[in-house]
Amino acid sequence: MDSICTQTNLHPRCLLFRSSLLLLLYVLIIIQPPVTVKVDTPFEMGSDSFSILTPKETIPIPISTEEEDEDHLPNSSLLSFTTHSPSKPVNSTVAILAIFFTLSAAIAIAIAFGFFFFFCHYSASSSAVPLNSTSSIDISRSLSKLQNPVVLLISLDGFRFGYQYKTNTPNIHRLIKNGTEAELGLIPVFPTLTFPNHYSIATGLYPAYHGIINNYFTDPETGDRFTMASHEPKWWLGEPLWETLANHGLKASTYFWPGSEVHKGSWDCPKGYCMFYNGSVPFEERVDTVLNYFDLPSDEIPSFMTLYFEDPDHQGHQVGPDDPQITEAVVAMDKIIGRLIKGLEERGVFEDVNIILLGDHGMVGTCDKKLIFLDDFAKWIVIPKEWVQSYSPLLAIRPPSGYSNKDIVDKMNEGLKSGNVNNGEYLRVFLKEDLPKRLHYWDNDRIPPVIGLIEEGYKVEQKRSKRQECGGAHGYDNAFFSMRTIFIAHGPQFARGRKVESFENVQIYNVVTKILNIQGAENNGTVSFAESIVLPSH
Ligand SMILES: [Zn+2]
Repeated sequence: MDSICTQTNLHPRCLLFRSSLLLLLYVLIIIQPPVTVKVDTPFEMGSDSFSILTPKETIPIPISTEEEDEDHLPNSSLLSFTTHSPSKPVNSTVAILAIFFTLSAAIAIAIAFGFFFFFCHYSASSSAVPLNSTSSIDISRSLSKLQNPVVLLISLDGFRFGYQYKTNTPNIHRLIKNGTEAELGLIPVFPTLTFPNHYSIATGLYPAYHGIINNYFTDPETGDRFTMASHEPKWWLGEPLWETLANHGLKASTYFWPGSEVHKGSWDCPKGYCMFYNGSVPFEERVDTVLNYFDLPSDEIPSFMTLYFEDPDHQGHQVGPDDPQITEAVVAMDKIIGRLIKGLEERGVFEDVNIILLGDHGMVGTCDKKLIFLDDFAKWIVIPKEWVQSYSPLLAIRPPSGYSNKDIVDKMNEGLKSGNVNNGEYLRVFLKEDLPKRLHYWDNDRIPPVIGLIEEGYKVEQKRSKRQECGGAHGYDNAFFSMRTIFIAHGPQFARGRKVESFENVQIYNVVTKILNIQGAENNGTVSFAESIVLPSH
């Protein structure tokens, strides 16, 4: 960290700080002789010094004994100017004054530089990204055991930003303390759902470009339905990291990740390195399998590995983000991370592996009193359930051909403005091309033409029911803070203790290819971001 002024740190602040210390030392050496001079009337010196320190004092100080002097003038005694001696004074008043002026100047300089140092330190701690500027010590650390760089990408599904502070998470915090963290979390892509986000992390593309525009959707051309069990390559566009590695002749392993079972290009989901999704596999077994890769001969260790866990998303949906069950799930996931760290340490590779620990999205509480019903729009336009591709948290409507999309949007908004749609103020309906551009959610025929943005915590349903349940959901606008997740990166190519500003997960693809020093496919991330977060090589 550059805020520490080591002997080798050439930061101007440190040079000034060291200079001030030298000056103070020099002044103290200069004034040292008078301290040892024997003077028998300490009162004179004490009186003078007292008048300098408190100029408004005009009352003559009564002559006192040496003991009284020490009692009444503690400053003098602290400064060791009142050494007692029976001998006569040998210095003139002028000399004494000179010494005190010198001393006062030294104190003033020391205080001034103290303030300067504090101010600079404070400024450095509160500045924008990167909070720790690149300096001579910010280069990647050399590998001690591994022959080649390795990136281990871990997803904790639905780990909302802030969960790491719900309770003690010593293992996650060990990675934070010694690694690089998005200080206010990682921003998911819209819609903030599991499959679109995991595949954006893997490809660096927004959903409109990688094709997984929702967890479920229908291809308007073929009428084929995509589900989370669809492994046909036609759905999965772009080039995920495992394919990029295969293209470069590097090994990759995937212990679950949406899209990883799909055979694409040179990636054929190799046996033993590409696990087919099975949610019943214990988390410990997943960790241990990944650890076993590090026991392979060096040229067989995958350069890129994924590791996926369903928690705490699973609990978040059931009880919402603020339930004690979430705290328990967070503790359990911290222990899983601890198991991984321990296994890597036992193999002597913990400091060699670049671990990227993240989530796909956050979580927000929902309750059935926060509902919007499509049946409420009947006075303006009837929306049959066959038109609706998804209700919540992303309302997606594809009317049959022959209907005007614009007309549907206008009529729905008319209903919303009327005040006669229950909770209508929490829904906004758009033609997809009119959505805020920051959502990047229009440029694909798979995206239905009419999209409703729902306020966080609200749900859209077709018709009224008597259900009264509370739980949690995600999928809302990615601008909501509740949808943010974590980004924690630890390893030889990440700075220790660095905080960076929040960024979108489409940047991660380039971060991985930068670490592995391979040319990635074109994507929506930027090269400059990867350069700003990955430490340069030696
Ligand atoms: Zn998820």
